[in-house]
Amino acid sequence: MANTLADGFDCLLFDLDGVVYRGSNAVPGAVTALERCAKVGHQCVYVTNNASRTAGDVAAHLRSIGIHVADADVVTSPQAAVSLLPDFVPDGSAILVVGGAGIDAVLIEHGYRPVRSLAQGPAAVMQGFSPSVSWADLAEASYAIASGLPWIATNPDLTFPTDRGVAPGNGSLVAAVANAVGREPDAMAGKPEPPLLVEAMRRRGGSQGLMIGDRLDTDVRGGSLAGLATLLVLTGVHSVDDLLGAVGPDQPDFIGVDLGVLHEEYPEVVVREISAGMEAECRGVWARIDEVGRVEVGGLGTWIDAVRALAGVTFASRNRGQDVEVPQALQALEAFTGTVAPETMELRGDHSA
Ligand SMILES: [Mg+2]
Repeated sequence: MANTLADGFDCLLFDLDGVVYRGSNAVPGAVTALERCAKVGHQCVYVTNNASRTAGDVAAHLRSIGIHVADADVVTSPQAAVSLLPDFVPDGSAILVVGGAGIDAVLIEHGYRPVRSLAQGPAAVMQGFSPSVSWADLAEASYAIASGLPWIATNPDLTFPTDRGVAPGNGSLVAAVANAVGREPDAMAGKPEPPLLVEAMRRRGGSQGLMIGDRLDTDVRGGSLAGLATLLVLTGVHSVDDLLGAVGPDQPDFIGVDLGVLHEEYPEVVVREISAGMEAECRGVWARIDEVGRVEVGGLGTWIDAVRALAGVTFASRNRGQDVEVPQALQALEAFTGTVAPETMELRGDHSA
């Protein structure tokens, strides 16, 4: 059998929400795809920006939906943040924590001393999310940072999805402190910054990693910045219109409807110059963008291969400085396939990272 997409990598890094689960339910097809990874022997690691749950909590959640993982298969942003501390403070230092027990536990595990006030002599500030973070905590962090202490944040997510809607996330609370102290954190551990993914790769000892996610501006950008290959799956936040608008590091190397793509042979997308513009071809489907930005899709093939060809030619044209209008590209896809969304797209609609 031909090589699958996953066969090309020695470490698969999975984002969770919108990729593996959505709230308390597994994303359809995810459990089967991940079981197959385990059977084939692919190294898998699960990465999350969420600083309010421990790796053990996340692993237990994964096991509850039928995915067999050990606690050590999960890397959280507090774990990645702690891995950055040796660059800033001596071993065993006291660390002023803004956040919850998840951060305290990781600090203690690595020999640091979590404290809650400047009077306790901290050497650095670590800021992560907890629903119990108060104004007093943010004020204490501000005083400590203003006094010259280094400041490490677990993750930059501006929003935090809850059962009742969208609430402020850690990035919003970091911004509140930044407004007070007049500067940004010295380091940010979570996606799209590389430390979380670098820590995951280090833990697995991998050298050829594939970052798999549902968001272009966190998962794909983070993977690109960390030097990994990237796969966008269309089971979460970002859809084809977001994909076609992607620039620079937000442009994924691979595109799949869901995690099943890992076990398929990934078709080559051939991009070439043609007499009046650019063309990309994927397994019998072609997409063209001419010099005035007209987009056309044709040939014979599947919806996802049309998306791959269209993304290929859109990125190539945009990267050469040609303005490509997303609505035009979507129209061309719709004219070819009759829809801009495969049937599984009805499952979208969760807006969490
Ligand atoms: Mg996600």
